[in-house]
Amino acid sequence: MIQDLLNGKHTLSLEVFPPKKDGEFESAHEILDRLGKLNPDFISVTYGAGGSRSGKTVEIASYIQNHLGIDALAHLTCVGSKKESILQIAEALSLQGIRHIMALRGDRPKDMTDEQFAQREFAHANELISFLKESTNHIMGGACYPEKHYECFSMESDLLHLKQKQDAGASFFISQMFFDNDFFYSFLEKARKKGITIPICAAIMPITAAKQLGTSVSLSGASVPKTLADLIATYGDHPEDMQKAGIDFAIRQIQDLQLNEVDGIHIYTMNKPLIAESIVNAIRS
Ligand code: FAD
Repeated sequence: MIQDLLNGKHTLSLEVFPPKKDGEFESAHEILDRLGKLNPDFISVTYGAGGSRSGKTVEIASYIQNHLGIDALAHLTCVGSKKESILQIAEALSLQGIRHIMALRGDRPKDMTDEQFAQREFAHANELISFLKESTNHIMGGACYPEKHYECFSMESDLLHLKQKQDAGASFFISQMFFDNDFFYSFLEKARKKGITIPICAAIMPITAAKQLGTSVSLSGASVPKTLADLIATYGDHPEDMQKAGIDFAIRQIQDLQLNEVDGIHIYTMNKPLIAESIVNAIRS
């Protein structure tokens, strides 16, 4: 349960994304059923960039909450949204018994003009968090960045903005992916010194195919350490070996985080249950 995280228990959570096409919902349920058997403390569901297909996030989160009986954390971005539509989604989540929202600003959609961006109703995630806190009964999480957010000019300034999210009412944070745990430990130390006291989950992205470096990893801004770059250079052209090596790398990263007693481990499953099963079974054995 997410409440366990808030009560100081070390949690293990997973992240999924809604299927991109309607016909894929059946296989999404099969994926979720397998992930549910891993008994995570909660499963988060991403929100399409700019609010596209927001109903799908609600649908998948509802399956997790009501069919699997596992806490769902529904992501919600506000960059292109009006207060009214945010309230509609919060209400749809409440009706499904979903109490937890990962409150995000989101990236600026490509088709958003400078004028629209400048006049957006929610400037930053802290405003979304305050708004939800005042208008709903939801419990909010927020995003944090061990290597700082790409738009921010310094870690110092990014941490001040993070503190604003806590002050606005965020109850926990989940990090951006990182591949060198030292970035996370150093960030944690600085965040605690800045008065950020709420739980911070460390998020791990298993790199099981070389092409991930050109997509999700480069968008995240996470640095790629030499050990991971070497591994991709060695196994990148051999899919099965690459998958095994990427899983081993993620397991080692998580085991080190567990030894250092981080508040929670959050695994970006990429909707691949086999990868999640291999990792979770290894870190629990
Ligand atoms: P913010 O907290 O608003 O920060 C954005 C930038 O503005 C930062 O540089 C920050 O330093 C600065 N800033 C923040 N507050 C202020 C302020 N008050 N004044 C001035 N500057 C400020 N995207 C999706 O589209 N869907 C998802 O489901 C999704 N899930 C995510 C889950 C996690 C765990 C993470 C780490 C990211 C996720 N993202 C998702 C990506 C996220 O939307 C982008 O990283 C986005 O660019 C920033 O969102 P944010 O909520 O961190 O924004």
